[in-house]
Amino acid sequence: MRAALYRSHGGPNVLEIADFPDPVAGPGDVVVRAVAVGLNRLDLLQRSGPALLPHFQLPHIAGMDFAGTIEAVGPGVDPARIGQRVVINPSISCGTCGLCRQGADNLCAAKTVIGGSVNGGYGELVAVPASHALAVPNHMDLVEAAILPTVYSRAWQSLFVSGRLRIGETLLVHAAASGVTIASVHLAKRAGARVIVTARTEAELDFGREHGADEGINTTTTDVAARALDLTDGRGVDIVLDHLGPALFDASIRALRPGGRLVFCGTTTGDTVQLHLPTVYHRDVSLLGSASYSFADFEQMLSFCWSGQLKSIIDRRLPIDEVARAHELMANDEVRGKLVLLH
Ligand SMILES: [Zn+2]
Repeated sequence: MRAALYRSHGGPNVLEIADFPDPVAGPGDVVVRAVAVGLNRLDLLQRSGPALLPHFQLPHIAGMDFAGTIEAVGPGVDPARIGQRVVINPSISCGTCGLCRQGADNLCAAKTVIGGSVNGGYGELVAVPASHALAVPNHMDLVEAAILPTVYSRAWQSLFVSGRLRIGETLLVHAAASGVTIASVHLAKRAGARVIVTARTEAELDFGREHGADEGINTTTTDVAARALDLTDGRGVDIVLDHLGPALFDASIRALRPGGRLVFCGTTTGDTVQLHLPTVYHRDVSLLGSASYSFADFEQMLSFCWSGQLKSIIDRRLPIDEVARAHELMANDEVRGKLVLLH
């Protein structure tokens, strides 16, 4: 098969299109012929090195988010699945540790990630557990399905599992151009919330509004917390989703109403914050770290996405041969929403 891979860490120029041995479907596996694969920030971080996920090996074929059709099945898998259109849950927990047996498989320490620690959708063919190849309904375009796993799961987990967002609440979410943010806007609006986005430029705020955000706050020109209070008649927002880290962490806390929740799940701007403790405890603010998604939550997220039309968040589609350029575009923040590579 053809695959975009790298044999050593470095810049985008370490990416090459190469012939690679076809994967074989072992017991309980299927081989998926990938149609499209979405880029994620982790692809760039791991290519630069050092690798972040355990079990990572060079050469590496990245690609956590992909969809395609089942090409072959291994022993124990119904051959009728050959030809089925599927999207992949890339997160494979061990299934046997204490956390997995308690249903907290999202916290499994022995987890492997397709396209993160083992080979993924930058290759034409990928062997995955049959249980992790989930049927895509006919009304859903496979390229649109390909970008759902990482950003929609991140948004789903943060908003509904960790944050317990309820109908009628006001959500503040940062970085309107990011895929996770736009996925959060789509999900929160569908769930009946009011959504305020922040961004550094008016163009990015417009992008957020085009995708359904009710209001935008320009972080370059405006005090985020003060404006959030203005927009809620002095009350403060019910919930903030912060995947940036320190840049707006303090503003996020001050933007909340008393009793509000800050859900945090990312370190784009660093991994350490200063916290003014009384501002948190005097106002009964909840700080909620949000981990990865469980197998059950992934299926719920997909069902929700299948149940109605979501506006596309794909910024552009490039042939897989342009993988190095795709990485450059993402590194230079020239992507709004998601970038997809086509096989
Ligand atoms: Zn486990």
